[in-house]
Amino acid sequence: MDYSGLAEKYGTPLYVYDFDYIKSRYNALKSQFAARKSLVCYAVKANSNLSLLKMLANLGAGFDCVSIGEVKRALIAGAKPYKIIYSGVGKSEEEIAQALNIGILMLNLESSEEMLLAERVAKSLGKPAKISIRINPNIDPKTHPYISTGLSENKFGVSVADAKKMYLYAKKSEFLEPVGAHFHIGSQLTDLSPIVEAANIVSDVVTELLAMEIDIKFFDVGGGIGITYENELEPDLYAYAQGILAALKGKDLTIVCEPGRFLVGNSGELLTRVLYQKTGEKGKRFVITDAAMNDLIRPSLYQAYHEIKAVSNLNDETQTCDVVGPICESGDFLGKNVSLPPLKSGDLLVVKSAGAYGFSMSSNYNSRTRPAEVAIEDGSDRLIRARENFDDLIKNEKEYL
Ligand SMILES: *Cc1c(COP(=O)(O)O)cnc(C)c1O
Repeated sequence: MDYSGLAEKYGTPLYVYDFDYIKSRYNALKSQFAARKSLVCYAVKANSNLSLLKMLANLGAGFDCVSIGEVKRALIAGAKPYKIIYSGVGKSEEEIAQALNIGILMLNLESSEEMLLAERVAKSLGKPAKISIRINPNIDPKTHPYISTGLSENKFGVSVADAKKMYLYAKKSEFLEPVGAHFHIGSQLTDLSPIVEAANIVSDVVTELLAMEIDIKFFDVGGGIGITYENELEPDLYAYAQGILAALKGKDLTIVCEPGRFLVGNSGELLTRVLYQKTGEKGKRFVITDAAMNDLIRPSLYQAYHEIKAVSNLNDETQTCDVVGPICESGDFLGKNVSLPPLKSGDLLVVKSAGAYGFSMSSNYNSRTRPAEVAIEDGSDRLIRARENFDDLIKNEKEYL
């Protein structure tokens, strides 16, 4: 990759995504379910850039959205409404109404109160709401606590017992059409066996539902497939898919999965330039970069590891340092104890594996403008989001001065 050329052309900090890599990941996952009806719904929150969504829509992907804003992004990018799923613990009445009007594939419901609201909204619109219920199977995904979602102590979904009551209610309702069963137990799972375990639990629930003539068509296993940031082993997709297929033996269901990180995480890199270097009193070396926690918050938020590489001086002897941003927080770092060669102001660094939960979690903290985004596809690069400018930051405020 011509990092220097890209940094020269688009400036830094800069997000760069390899679209060909995303396509190959999509195809690798989709082909695992080739023997069955399946829908790979990309989890938009991982990276919601419109050009990226459009590329996936062109491949036939569906979309898993967690806000009406994400649903609208998917539509603008060319998604078919019947391939859009809407999940999330706190959908508002307005959001539910808009989603039903759009005619999405299904609402993934996360509480009985939410189901009652969906029923009322559907009634007022005069058409039934297609729903799925997010079952919390109480399985430990063995990942970081902030990205675990499938334990009883987490806020997500409902217990098996509650789900069954909800399905029974929905079956009797004129304005609810239960079509799916859903779970999503956590993110960045490098051992996917907890997902297979959850699939077995939820499949047993579906067996009971089918026996009660509740016509479940979609079996949604959520996302969570982990990626390699450091030395994690790539999860075994074949075993994952075979495990899910085995859990569904004898049932004619469409398998839905909702990968986010798996598709885009390792497609992306964050390019940043060194501003300064300094050595603290105890000899600690700090490399201060033009990218900060507002651009990539994962290290600060989850102590997440991102490999950081220099672009030049690669043959020089390395020394450890903390790579930190200009933000006024001690938690503002991209990496700690990173081995890097001698660097000077203007040198480029590449922060790896930044395609998922990078730009999409970015903010304007410290009144910093967010980076530009660039796609690499078929050997050429193009801008897919312009760098923000100061006017973007103040446009909703300045008229009130
Ligand atoms: C976040 C999320 C996903 C995607 O998770 P990844 O770990 O990025 O694959 C899928 N489904 C739901 C409901 C989510 O909230």
